[in-house]
Amino acid sequence: MKPHRIRIAHNLVCHYYLHKKMDITRPLPASAEHIGWFHSPDYVDFLSSVSPETLYDQTYDARHLKRFNVGSDCPVFDGLFNFCQASAGGSLGAAVKLNRQDADIAINWAGGLHHAKKSAASGFCYVNDIVLGILELLKVHKRVLYVDIDVHHGDGVEEAFYTTDRVMTVSFHKFGDFFPGTGYIEDIGIGTGKYYALNAPLNDGIDDESFRRLFRPVIQKVMEVYQPDVVVLQCGADSLAGDRLGCFNLSVHGHADCLRFLRSFNVPLMILGGGGYTIKNVARCWCYETAIAVGIEPENKLPDNEYYEYFAPEYTLNVEPIPMENKNSPRDLEKIR
Ligand SMILES: [Zn+2]
Repeated sequence: MKPHRIRIAHNLVCHYYLHKKMDITRPLPASAEHIGWFHSPDYVDFLSSVSPETLYDQTYDARHLKRFNVGSDCPVFDGLFNFCQASAGGSLGAAVKLNRQDADIAINWAGGLHHAKKSAASGFCYVNDIVLGILELLKVHKRVLYVDIDVHHGDGVEEAFYTTDRVMTVSFHKFGDFFPGTGYIEDIGIGTGKYYALNAPLNDGIDDESFRRLFRPVIQKVMEVYQPDVVVLQCGADSLAGDRLGCFNLSVHGHADCLRFLRSFNVPLMILGGGGYTIKNVARCWCYETAIAVGIEPENKLPDNEYYEYFAPEYTLNVEPIPMENKNSPRDLEKIR
């Protein structure tokens, strides 16, 4: 989850000259006040003041760390709050661009941190840039559709909007003895939000063909029925084949098919990053998806770039599936659909 992932992705984007096809802006870091739109005051105070040096002195005791779930999976590091401000500022800035109709697609590969909760860090996520971005979009748009193709359930975003019909959340994820453990197919929202949360629980090894056969009809129906004014797509790259933490078997082309399909509806679109732990593949995926966003089919052979040796031995943009069993039978998928 180090920002180096984003640097390599950005490097590839530039070497494919995709930056010539779009505007690149440097958004303002999100202020503590902006972050407080979703996160609780005590948690924001903690994030903005903690450092590795003060962590274990008198300032914070074990109860703080436990309450905010900071320590093991979500360590305190130098520049933590700046990192959160940059990630959240990107998604807020993307929302402002879409709200002003300055862009029809806005991308923040440093965003997509879907596990962060109101008062706690979770799964390498501290500040939920997605929730903040969606709150900004709701100033102008009546209905926001959130789609999540990270291998993990989009729990923080689902929870934030579980009781409203103004945001519909749809998550496709590995389910069963897998972090964060939520995302049951029966979880559909409550109160006004009932039927405005959808979960597709999947098993190991899902391939391009199976994923597409589920994703396309579900999203087609959601678009027809919900008619969102704007779509937010979390493109977590840990659903790719060969991810260090994931267990799906998608190629970059299969992963990007989700973006290709959503883009075809011509609804304003915010594209965000997320997980992804085999970093050369994360960069490949997000570069390819940037190309799809700007309407280009990029060469599979990689151009010369600063991190060329990372991409040995194939030096290609696509990530091919690996030999593994697809534990999602056509019958399982039909049942989910
Ligand atoms: Zn993930």
